[in-house]
Amino acid sequence: MRTNIDLIRSALDLAVGYAATVDDRRAVPDAQALAALEAFDEDLPEQGANPSETLALLHDVGEPATVASTGPNYFGFVTGGTLPIALASAFLADAWDQNAGLPVMSPVAAKLHEISRHWLLDVLRLPADTEVAFVTGATVANATCLAAARDALLAGLGWDAQSQGLFGAPEFTVVLGEQAHSTLEKSLGLIGLGRSRVAVVPSDDQGRIRADRLPEIEGPVLVCAQAGEVNTGAFDPFDELADWAHARSGWLHVDGAFGLWALADPERHELIQGLDRADSWATDGHKWLNVGYDCGIAFVRRPGDLLRTFTAAAGYLPQEAGFQAMHHTPQSSQRARQIEVWSVLRTLGRTGVAALVRQSCEAASAMAADLRAGGLRILNDVVLNQVLCRLSDGATTEALIAEIQADGRIWCGSTKWAGETAMRISVSCWKTEVPHARSAAAIILECAERTGRTSLRAD
Ligand SMILES: *Cc1c(COP(=O)(O)O)cnc(C)c1O
Repeated sequence: MRTNIDLIRSALDLAVGYAATVDDRRAVPDAQALAALEAFDEDLPEQGANPSETLALLHDVGEPATVASTGPNYFGFVTGGTLPIALASAFLADAWDQNAGLPVMSPVAAKLHEISRHWLLDVLRLPADTEVAFVTGATVANATCLAAARDALLAGLGWDAQSQGLFGAPEFTVVLGEQAHSTLEKSLGLIGLGRSRVAVVPSDDQGRIRADRLPEIEGPVLVCAQAGEVNTGAFDPFDELADWAHARSGWLHVDGAFGLWALADPERHELIQGLDRADSWATDGHKWLNVGYDCGIAFVRRPGDLLRTFTAAAGYLPQEAGFQAMHHTPQSSQRARQIEVWSVLRTLGRTGVAALVRQSCEAASAMAADLRAGGLRILNDVVLNQVLCRLSDGATTEALIAEIQADGRIWCGSTKWAGETAMRISVSCWKTEVPHARSAAAIILECAERTGRTSLRAD
């Protein structure tokens, strides 16, 4: 027993050592660290190995090959870090190993679900009786909301999709913006509505749905909007979309994987007009709220809509009072993700969440200003935490991105925008403040200089 506890304690020391030094790491592993991963290429041991040795191997070989996305210098995809209180409570949550599927399995998880639900709706200013379910990420949160939407729309048409399935069901129209995140299509495929059987609405130059181009259809409709286009951070015109969907007995869903957190910042009221009028919303905890992986959150406006879709009955499952997560999510057994969400919300408070959002947005704006001054073209209105930019053209931008990634001090990825390569910068980690953003901009300009293509043109 003693040695088991020593093992856990030494792991904790190593983990703390990592957290204490990650800011000084390269943003991504170097070639040597990647080559060293070969050490994991072993046959399955016949007899089992010593756990201390296993931990040492994991640390010695694994740690150098991590991406330092919990540090201030990682701008790839949309990747949050981990707030100290999130990591600290994850340590406890991991030791407790609670199954949050049913209240009887974990009273503490049930209680913290109740509190975090209430606080999330409060900080995001969403309707108070909205149901909240924790899942693995925004992809599954989108699928969860859309499955509930599908069954609710079909129920309204007199069809019980859970018992009859979709064969022979009455039809409704799924409406998607041209720049909808790829996980929307994946979700629609998963829940049987089809990736391509959708009415696609053209977007404007920021990737916003053009409300003046909505199709001429009667309804019912399932409209998928987004708060935070993944390249530009743009928000759809929610008021118009809510009017349009609700006039057609429809359901408005919003993918707000990171952008939903703009609701917490009173300064961003123009972006969020009408956002609270949706019927469901999907977001991530592991992006902007800066809890660890994995944590997605599905919000469904009308009580009962999640239960209709996700309930599971079995003789050994008790009838209980309180929120039964396994009857409101695709999962049965599940991690108590609400523990870290609760501890972060309690630590930051309402003003702290708003300040976190504002800090990332200010850092993104500072970076955009420096890059523009250095000759890059900023392609988006920097309304949130995303910066989309380009050197003189797609090819020079690809060379710049390759140079930045080889340099390794910071990391930014690429995307296609209006048919050509562009560079995406996302500020989503709580550690990235304006000075980090400005240093990162200086590194980008230095890399641009080095690619030798300094035909930098001003706007
Ligand atoms: C990241 C993202 C998703 C997917 O979220 P996961 O947490 O990776 O499942 C969906 N939509 C948008 C807009 C995103 O940025």
